[in-house]
Amino acid sequence: MPESRTYGRRRRQLPATASKTEQAGFEVGKREAISGRVVATGAGGPTQMAGWDAMDKTASASGSDMYLKVTEEATVIKILGDGPFDVYNSHWIEEIEDGSKSVRCWGTPDCPLCVVGDKAKRFSACFDVISLEDPDTPVMKIWEAGIKIARQLKDIATDGKRGPLNRGDLYFTIKKEQKKKSVEYTLERVKERDLYEEYDVEPLTDEALETFLAEAHQWGDVVKEKLDEDAMQEVVDLVMEG
Ligand SMILES: [Zn+2]
Repeated sequence: MPESRTYGRRRRQLPATASKTEQAGFEVGKREAISGRVVATGAGGPTQMAGWDAMDKTASASGSDMYLKVTEEATVIKILGDGPFDVYNSHWIEEIEDGSKSVRCWGTPDCPLCVVGDKAKRFSACFDVISLEDPDTPVMKIWEAGIKIARQLKDIATDGKRGPLNRGDLYFTIKKEQKKKSVEYTLERVKERDLYEEYDVEPLTDEALETFLAEAHQWGDVVKEKLDEDAMQEVVDLVMEG
């Protein structure tokens, strides 16, 4: 069941299209049928009882849950696509007190924050991944990789022998280590056949993988929307006043 919870959350938090959002309830039901945990149907026919589950879980959703949290302990992940579905730089605006301090750079010469001299310092490459942090309840997350890890992933992705990233028998582990002045990330490839022995993790079933794949992003989907001109102007004002 927890996987369907993350589903709902993900859909709520993403700038998904209306039709996709409306499908969320349906997806929850579908998922449960696949994993064999269909809610009791009572006297006659199918029910929408699963919808209450979805409601509670969606209502308690918080935005940060859709992102993969990398910790000091290696987390096993499966990457769903053969590349990132969204790549962007962001400005970090300390002056923003209400809301995210991270503002997506327009990526064009007329980006208002770039124009006033603020540098977009943070790079993100976004991947759909299945986190096997809890091996019994795989959940789909968005992984925002920084430039170093993104380059390592590209090397693997473009290497005929090691790639592609979404090769059936290929999993990864990711962990971080707090150094004196920075955080260092370590990425490792893991072959499916070594998953259990090395990490006590069972490989995903084809059914589970397919269900996740149906929900994966396409290239061009955005994790963080660009602010429009008005909103951007407000941020610029904050910076200039600050
Ligand atoms: Zn910019």
